[in-house]
Formats: sequence, C-alpha cells, structure tokens
Amino acid sequence: RFESVTMAPADPILGVSEAFKKDNSEKKLNLGVGAYRTEDLQPYVLEVVKKAEKKMLEGGDNKEYLPIEGLAAFNKATAELLLGADNAAIKENRVATVQGLSGTGSLRLGAAFIQRYFPGITVYISSPTWGNHKNIFNDAGVPWKEYRYFDPKTVGLDFDGMMEDIENAPEGSIILLHGCAHNPTGIDPTPDQWEKIADLIQQKNHMAFFDVAYQGFASGSLDDDASSVRKFVARGMEVFVAQSYSKNLGLYAERVGAINAIVSSADVAARVKSQLKRIARPMYSNPPVHGARIVANVVGEPTMFDEWRAEMQMMAGRIKTVRQRLYDELSTKDKSGKDWSFVLKQIGMFSFTGLNKAQSDNMTDKWHVYMTKDGRISLAGLNLAKCAYLADAIIDSYYN
Ligand code: PMP
Repeated sequence: RFESVTMAPADPILGVSEAFKKDNSEKKLNLGVGAYRTEDLQPYVLEVVKKAEKKMLEGGDNKEYLPIEGLAAFNKATAELLLGADNAAIKENRVATVQGLSGTGSLRLGAAFIQRYFPGITVYISSPTWGNHKNIFNDAGVPWKEYRYFDPKTVGLDFDGMMEDIENAPEGSIILLHGCAHNPTGIDPTPDQWEKIADLIQQKNHMAFFDVAYQGFASGSLDDDASSVRKFVARGMEVFVAQSYSKNLGLYAERVGAINAIVSSADVAARVKSQLKRIARPMYSNPPVHGARIVANVVGEPTMFDEWRAEMQMMAGRIKTVRQRLYDELSTKDKSGKDWSFVLKQIGMFSFTGLNKAQSDNMTDKWHVYMTKDGRISLAGLNLAKCAYLADAIIDSYYN
C-alpha cells in the first residue's frame, strides 16, 4: 500500500535548516529561515512574552477548547493592531476576524474561502514571493499567476511592470500584496506608489489580499507598517488580511495569527465569519490558546505594549546595524566599484543579494553559508562579527 509513495523534495526554506544541521564546519552560518537571532546567534524569547507567560501561569488559565474563531480578546487586539483601534471599520463591526494557525494557516483559510466563494478567480502574486504562497493556493485549489515586482537591473521595484500586470489581470481578480517588508526582496512600494496601486485595484474592481507577516519590522513603527492596509480600508475597499506573530513577537512555534475580512457591512462580516469558521472546523477544529493569550496580554495592555514596542525596535535596530556593516564590508572589499547600496535600501529581515542559483550554491558548498537558492539572506541570523566573512563569500560567489 505505502510502497508506491515517492520521496517528497525538501522544502526550499525549512530544508536549508536541515542541511545546516548536518554541516560540521565551524564557519557555518544559517541565513536561510527568517528567524531572529541575538548578536550571539542564539534564538531569542522576548522578555515581554516571558512576562505574559508568567502572568498567565499565575492567573491559572485553563486549557479548555477555544471557540472555532479563536480567543475573543486576541481577535479584538489583533484587528485593532492592524487597523488602529479607532478605525471606522472596527467601530461599524465590518471586520470579520478568525484566529488562524499563524500566517500560513490564516492565508490557507483565506485561500479556502476564495476557492469556495470566488470560484475560478485567479490570485495574482508577486514575482518573486515567499515560496509557500504558491503551495498554499495550489493546495487550496485556487489558480494563481504572477505579476512583475522585482527589477534585477536596478535591484529595485519594477513598478511599471507591476502596474501593467495588475491592469491586464481580468476584472475582479485577487491581488496578493505584502503589507510591508516584502519577502524575499525587502523592497516595498512608496506611499505614493501604494496610492496608485489602490487606485488601479479599485478601478479594475480587483480585491487586495494582504499578507502582513512583519508588522513592526519594516519601519520600526507598528502603525506605519500597517499603512498600506489602512489606505485601502479608508477608501472603503473590501480586503482580506492575513497576520502573523511569528516574527514581531517571536512566537514562531506557537502558531498564532489571524485572517481578517474587512467588508462593506456588519451583516456581511457576520456571514463571512460564519463561513470562515465552517472552513476551519473540519481542518483543525479550533486554534491553540497559548500564543493567542500571550498576544492578548501584550497587545491589549498598554504597559506591556510599550515594552513590546521597545523590544521590537531593539530587534529591528540590530538588523539595521548588521545591514549597514555588511554594506560597509562589501563596499570596502569589492574593488570593482560595484554599487552595493541596494543592501541598505532594502528593509525588514532579509537582503536579496541578486546571487543566482549557482552563486547561491557556491555560498553553501564553498563557504558554508546556508541560504535560499533565490539569493535571499536573512540578516536576522547574522551578527557583526560574521559580516566580513559573509562579504568575502558574497564577492567570491558573485564574480566566480
Ligand atoms: N508570509 C510571509 C511573507 C512570510 O515571510 C512568512 C514567514 N516566513 C509567513 C507569511 C508565515 O509565517 P508563519 O506561518 O510562521 O506565520
């Protein structure tokens, strides 16, 4: 029976960590997965998370099942974090929020909803994008195509290409957008470009589906990082938004996130929420409680919230320092005069180096630097001490 099962390929991102573990070299460096490390390259649990957990333990919370839609205090806090507590959509009860299994599970709920209620509609995703987007829509049976996003010549945004592809998508398509800190490129549209994207999506009667996995990690401001989503909502446009607390609260393994549908009326929101719950029930029944309680305690409580913001700024600040050092090393060591300033212009956890697959292979095979084969490196896994070594590896791989 099971004899005929073939071996599945390793996951392009999580497979990198598996390969890293097997490497015995002292020089090895894991820049594959986007997970924050301290300057000693150790995983980091936020102090504010430990504080919330202590409070939860002392409070004697039980482990009863959550409702299908998740923890009410979490759902309230997460929608407010996304839209701002005084947002008209929240006041008018036009937001349907369902707790999901982190960003991935929340995207998957949205995708399953699209498959049922918008059958045959194509989702347009950026080229390139986070590798799992394609898997998620494939597995939900939702057709997808790509829109241009990255221009290798400028190592910047191909805004004209993006707009042309959104323009040419059949009316009523769904456009998947990274709310901030685009993965893997680290390149976001400017506020003015966001307005133009919103204009076009509105004109074409498309719908935006935002993936917000890095709120707080792009600009360091939680509000600014949600401004793309808020622009669309302020225009009265209906949107889907998937959120993740993996990065900004470091809750990777707790699987905490949400899918939000911001719609035209309270009545529609109630119906959409009921259908999202109907999709969740046979998939996993109800979501886990621990991470949701942490978020509710931190995001919903002003003192804890301030502590969180300070810690997030510390994390984002460390990544910026490393980014600057890497740029300095690349510019000093590379005698060809190549302009490496794109490294500084990129934002978030990643740098998109422009290294192709063969060059990325050289990074791993010769230099023991583990990274995804699209040329992306996670600066969250780098420290100042390793910047010179990494610059040597990049320059060697780039020119050979
Ligand atoms: N979307 C993007 C763009 C991401 O980079 C990630 C994490 N790598 C996710 C969603 C989801 O991650 P998680 O399921 O851990 O929340």
